[in-house]
Amino acid sequence: MTHIITSLCLRDAGCVEVCPVECIVPGFPTDKWPWYYIDPDTCIDCGACIPECPYEAIFPEDEVPTGYTAKGGEFVANAGLSGHYEKANHHGVMVVLENTRELKKGETLDLTADIQKNYDYYKSGAGYKAWDHVEKDGTISG
Ligand code: SF4
Ligand code: SF4
Repeated sequence: MTHIITSLCLRDAGCVEVCPVECIVPGFPTDKWPWYYIDPDTCIDCGACIPECPYEAIFPEDEVPTGYTAKGGEFVANAGLSGHYEKANHHGVMVVLENTRELKKGETLDLTADIQKNYDYYKSGAGYKAWDHVEKDGTISG
């Protein structure tokens, strides 16, 4: 099993530094990979990342909700969306995403569609090579 980051992630970056096996990596480039992603082959399911996430975006794989009910005002980020999100992260670095959508109170989402993207990022995305472009504080350098 593994833990999973879902599309509720807004690159706050707080989870990265608490992971004892350093298996949480920023998505790069952000138009295709807007969240941070957990390496399922390395995650030891310790759960330390969950309380660090201000957006409650992280779940054990078998607890990712099929019917997440929005409180209202959350954002999801996904390739293909066109909404704008901008806010300083955990380290004070500005996060700007142009592929988001603000959720309406009471709408429901199946977040299990996000599970596979954590796997895919380490197979067909940048995976750990993203660190060549993104600092641990979330600054994108190239
Ligand atoms: S703490 Fe939450 S929002 Fe921040 S990078 Fe981790 S999963 Fe994403
Ligand atoms: S559950 Fe533990 S090992 Fe897995 S990503 Fe979170 S902090 Fe890292």
